Amino acid sequence: MARFDNEVVLVTGGAQGMGANHVRHLIAEGARVLFGDVAVADGEALAAELGENAKFVRLDVTDDQSWTDAVTAGEEAFGPFTALVNNAGVSGVTPWLTLSTDDFKRMIEINTVGTFIGIRSIVPSLKRSGRGGVIVNISSTAGIAPSAGTATYAASKWAVRGLTKVAALEFGHDNIRVVSVHPGFVETQMTAGVDLSILSGQPIPRLATKDEVSKLVLFLIVDATYSTGTEFIIDGGNTLGAAPLEMKD
Ligand code: NAD
Repeated sequence: MARFDNEVVLVTGGAQGMGANHVRHLIAEGARVLFGDVAVADGEALAAELGENAKFVRLDVTDDQSWTDAVTAGEEAFGPFTALVNNAGVSGVTPWLTLSTDDFKRMIEINTVGTFIGIRSIVPSLKRSGRGGVIVNISSTAGIAPSAGTATYAASKWAVRGLTKVAALEFGHDNIRVVSVHPGFVETQMTAGVDLSILSGQPIPRLATKDEVSKLVLFLIVDATYSTGTEFIIDGGNTLGAAPLEMKD
């Protein structure tokens, strides 16, 4: 029996980047996966490649009806969900004084409000599974440690960390665990323009691979059975602070 044979998982932002990689890993381990995204062409191509255990729907995480339709489509195809990976997100670095109110709200809408609606939409389905389930919210090191120019991204991801803790408290008695994941710099289109020299002071001075993050996400779904409401940092040591002094003989 495969590790995820009894799992029905919804992954948001699953057409590209880390989300697509989580979908691939879940399918390889035996899960049935409904994944959603606003990038329809990429999502449909991935679903066609992965076969009958993967189903793609257009899902805009900021839209209530879109969530209702996605959960319904997933249940019709695979039965009630046992896990949700709230992965969809956008990022950006803008100096405070040039950040418009509309741009600030837009990022909060996708990263934070999308996560909130996702939890509210999936919980009834997790309960219908008869055994509860797991919600993995993808935050960021930006939700752990501040850096200049990230007012909206940090606010949105800090809030994801807070939502995680409240949901863990509200749904624990339904046997639902809720955790947050805080990646540092990962090799996706989101970090394509990043000057990698900024990683030189990091104890592990490189980008994370998508596989490293997917392995943590899958571990949290099926193995981390005594963890809820807490943070899992995967950042090569980035949030430790100052670079270590160069050691000399
Ligand atoms: P990515 O841009 O490759 O993928 C993000 C996906 O989210 C895309 O497919 C995009 O179409 C989708 N998306 C955007 N808005 C959406 C919406 N309204 N509804 C549904 N889907 C939407 O980015 P990634 O690097 O794979 O990031 C995935 C998650 O990880 C994000 O939440 C991001 O903030 C977080 N993260 C990324 C890094 C990194 O270094 N790449 C670091 C920390 C956290």
